[in-house]
Amino acid sequence: MAYDKNNIFAKILRGEIPCNKIYENEHTFAFHDVNPQTPIHALVIPKGEYISMIDFSENASETEISSLFKTVTKVARELGVENNGYRILSNIGDDANQEVKHLHIHIFGGCNVGAMICRR
Ligand code: AMP
Repeated sequence: MAYDKNNIFAKILRGEIPCNKIYENEHTFAFHDVNPQTPIHALVIPKGEYISMIDFSENASETEISSLFKTVTKVARELGVENNGYRILSNIGDDANQEVKHLHIHIFGGCNVGAMICRR
């Protein structure tokens, strides 16, 4: 599958649609999820064109990879969820119902986020 430059997060990165930005640096960008599932629900994405964690881990530079994970920790701290805890999650592909085909890490917090996986 090729990266789709018209996915919604690519448009956010290009400034074509607005977002509620939290933080950015050379390699990463963080913003609030538009449809929060918990009181704190943030998204951290690489600026590079990576579809999912598979693509990212195989093709991103060491700097991009470390930057993404350091940004997750930094954003969680800035949002005040570090002490009580939070969950990070990344959906990869169809069985995980990945909607946006640009790698993103969700940060859920601000409450007890419940069981690890809801089976239906
Ligand atoms: P996923 O199912 O892991 O692909 O999650 C995609 C997430 O992107 C969902 O939680 C959406 O609410 C969120 N989302 C979609 N469009 C936007 C947007 N314009 N700004 C912020 N978050 C968005």
